[in-house]
Amino acid sequence: MTASIPNFIDGALVASRSTRTSPVYNPATGVQTGTLGLASALDVKSAVTAARKAFPIWASAPPLRRARVLNQFLRMIEGRIDELAQVISSEHGKVFSDAKGEIQRGMEVVEFATGAPQLLKGEVTENVGTRVDSYSLRQPLGVVAGITPFNFPAMVPMWMFPVALACGNTFILKPSERDPSAPLLLAQWLKEAGLPDGVFNVVQGDKEAVDAILTEPDIVAVSFVGSTPIARYIYEAATRNGKRCQALGGAKNHMIVMPDADMDQAVDALMGAAYGSAGERCMAISVAVPVGDTTAERLIEKLAPKVRALNIGPGTDPDAEMGPLVTKQHLEKVRAYIDAGVEEGAKLVVDGRDFRRQGYEGGYFIGGTLFDDVTTDMKIYKEEIFGPVLAVARAKSYDEAAEMINEHEFGNGTAIFTRDGDAAREFAHQIQVGMVGINVPIPVPMAFHSFGGWKASLFGDHHMHGPEGVRFYTKLKTITTRWPTGIRTGAEFVMPTMS
Ligand code: NAD
Repeated sequence: MTASIPNFIDGALVASRSTRTSPVYNPATGVQTGTLGLASALDVKSAVTAARKAFPIWASAPPLRRARVLNQFLRMIEGRIDELAQVISSEHGKVFSDAKGEIQRGMEVVEFATGAPQLLKGEVTENVGTRVDSYSLRQPLGVVAGITPFNFPAMVPMWMFPVALACGNTFILKPSERDPSAPLLLAQWLKEAGLPDGVFNVVQGDKEAVDAILTEPDIVAVSFVGSTPIARYIYEAATRNGKRCQALGGAKNHMIVMPDADMDQAVDALMGAAYGSAGERCMAISVAVPVGDTTAERLIEKLAPKVRALNIGPGTDPDAEMGPLVTKQHLEKVRAYIDAGVEEGAKLVVDGRDFRRQGYEGGYFIGGTLFDDVTTDMKIYKEEIFGPVLAVARAKSYDEAAEMINEHEFGNGTAIFTRDGDAAREFAHQIQVGMVGINVPIPVPMAFHSFGGWKASLFGDHHMHGPEGVRFYTKLKTITTRWPTGIRTGAEFVMPTMS
């Protein structure tokens, strides 16, 4: 018997009312550790009822009071970060230090959201007309939902709910069914921090719960992070049903290595960005683009031995640099991509397919893999693999490298490594990607900026957290006031103007 993993609705852990379940595994061992009750439309309805009931009181609470709850929540995570990291590592597979890193990035968004009184300050103009004043303010939307992927079970929900709650909304989270336990801890800690019941709810589930969210009239906005086909589906269904929607999708992030780059720095950067978290990051670098054959040779020469020497093991091994993939199915998918790369004629410099870790034979491990001579027509170039597989696609010039990036379907993140300020400036200016790094391989914006890609990496108008997050989770109201002065001007039938 494995532990059954419930929902969190109206301040309490509650079992799903459906009989459908889904197994949860420890990816390092392949052993089932939990059974997730998959929420039905009825469970989603219960969460909506609780969130609707909680909304008027939470929305009218002074922003400072909301900020204090988030502040208390922040302190609680700080004190329990190891516990949370442990849970993430055991269901996702990422190494413990990396799990802590994701929590810290999520906490930064909570920190940002504790500035709610400042973030929600409106604007005033005195005397827009004679004795007429105008002010604008931002008000919460109502019940909002977040649907999140497996690869950051704590951080991605934390891109969403701290800002949504700070703005006065109530929230329903539908986490990934593959690593559902971290969000449940967060829900319980929010309650302990003083969040009123019903303000934050978690419904565990799959497509059935997602579709119930998308068709539920009382949910007014949906934030999504996941793969591009599902992001497109969510965006189309949510907006068709009149909801505000931001849907972040997949990625294929390129890093240009210019001939003048500091090669040791570029190689270290690529190692972390391509193989950290086993490549299961939407900001992972999956394509390196050295400019010129000499640059390519120097890059491969330094990179290949480091890829072979990667220390791969369970999240509990403090020396491990990379853990297993999340599921057996995903392992098979990544292996199939490597097979496809070989069949398509790419040069397999390091082959991770046969990697085994002694004592963890049932785990979903794969070794770091490196391809050279990858061309833009190959499947391994065009599609997101989401594993520890780096493709080197050589370019003859900077212009050819930039064109590859601009023509790619995805536009999440990108980077250039160079000492040439002019080339870097040109890159930052004209590249068709939402997040750009100059000698920074994973340019994830800090919480007080906003996160989001371009092209097929984001559907909708708003990026996440930072100022864009506040705009997404609020609606603008502008009030124009005039107080009776006793002076009567009579009825005016023309459009009011200053004159
Ligand atoms: P996924 O698209 O399979 O799942 C994401 C969410 O959608 C999950 O909650 C899942 O339950 C739900 N879902 C899955 N199939 C569905 C369907 N048919 N109908 C309705 N809902 C469905 O993504 P994943 O495998 O969990 O995560 C990896 C993907 O997420 C990668 O493509 C990665 O690039 C992307 N990602 C993007 C960002 C970003 O900021 N752009 C960040 C993290 C992850």
